[in-house]
Amino acid sequence: MRCIGCDRPTDRSLQLTTLFAHGPLLAPRLCHSCLSRFCLITGATCVGCGRMQPTEQLCSDCRKWEHQGRLLHNRALFAYDASMKAWIYQYKGLGDYRLHVAFQDLIAARLRHAAALVPIPSEPKHFELRGFDPIIGLFGCLRLRSWLRKTATERPQAQKTRQERLKTPQSFHVLASEQMLNRARQITLLDDLYTTGRTLYHARDALVAAGFKGTIDSFTLIR
Ligand SMILES: [Zn+2]
Ligand SMILES: [Zn+2]
Repeated sequence: MRCIGCDRPTDRSLQLTTLFAHGPLLAPRLCHSCLSRFCLITGATCVGCGRMQPTEQLCSDCRKWEHQGRLLHNRALFAYDASMKAWIYQYKGLGDYRLHVAFQDLIAARLRHAAALVPIPSEPKHFELRGFDPIIGLFGCLRLRSWLRKTATERPQAQKTRQERLKTPQSFHVLASEQMLNRARQITLLDDLYTTGRTLYHARDALVAAGFKGTIDSFTLIR
């Protein structure tokens, strides 16, 4: 198989843990050299949002969330550095759908024990513009439950300041019945990027308001 970054043959092989795991067998689609341009989150992280930092204490953002109610535990694969910003721009901004498989092996390995995987949906108008849902693209290699719908907001998150993002009103509707939700004991919300956490906290709150009684955490490609 060829690397989708540089078109040379991929030199990364399947990890043994992936081989013996239940679920889809997903081959690496980036070579060592292309993958090394990104910063994989390793070592100490904030126990709240999964941000890479020197200690495992709550970061200042998570302390604020904790103050407002129950903390949402997030885990992420990559740090949001210049390489990842450029990658997200090519994938979502320019709509280069080829890239959706870039991290599929790493994503599948991290989520193989997760229970119900619920993707954060795109706004309908963004879907129309791009012609694909970037979150389904990234995580579509796994079994997903499309239990959330998003109504249109006036401006995309990407065009807002941090303060404006934090003030964004709730815009998620839950499509599953209370009975269906509670067949799962645990839900992992999926998104591409954790910035302020606002979107994921809204999704969590919508599921709780719809009667979900289990635990909810989240996983993002980037923090
Ligand atoms: Zn490559
Ligand atoms: Zn944090």
